[in-house]
Amino acid sequence: MTDCVFCRIIARQHPADIEYEDDAVLAFKDIYPKAPVHVLIVPKRHIASVMTMEPGDTEALGRCLLAARRLGEAKGFAGRGYRLRVNCGSEGGQVVDHVHVHFLAGGRATGA
Ligand code: AMP
Ligand code: ZN
Repeated sequence: MTDCVFCRIIARQHPADIEYEDDAVLAFKDIYPKAPVHVLIVPKRHIASVMTMEPGDTEALGRCLLAARRLGEAKGFAGRGYRLRVNCGSEGGQVVDHVHVHFLAGGRATGA
């Protein structure tokens, strides 16, 4: 049993509200949403962080971005747009050490 909560969600050992799935990626609602639509997109294979990613991880992370595109289209944001955010390390605000792309939509993004 892994102590990574996102790996547990991927293994269906922990509940989540799943929004999108394919062979490489799972996307589920953030439990503490910071935007009207807040979904986390994660690679199914455990990669801790962009800060430790290897060349062999590029496909998995690219698939997360492709999943964001599909999610955006499926949820009606292809025209309006959305924000993708990847927090890296403690000072970057990363709390869960399984790399994830925040998909934030439904409100005008401000700031960087
Ligand atoms: P970060 O700060 O970039 O590491 O983002 C971690 C995100 O995961 C936060 O926005 C949390 O609200 C979210 N989160 C933590 N545990 C869960 C969970 N079990 N299900 C869904 N989202 C979660
Ligand atoms: Zn994990």
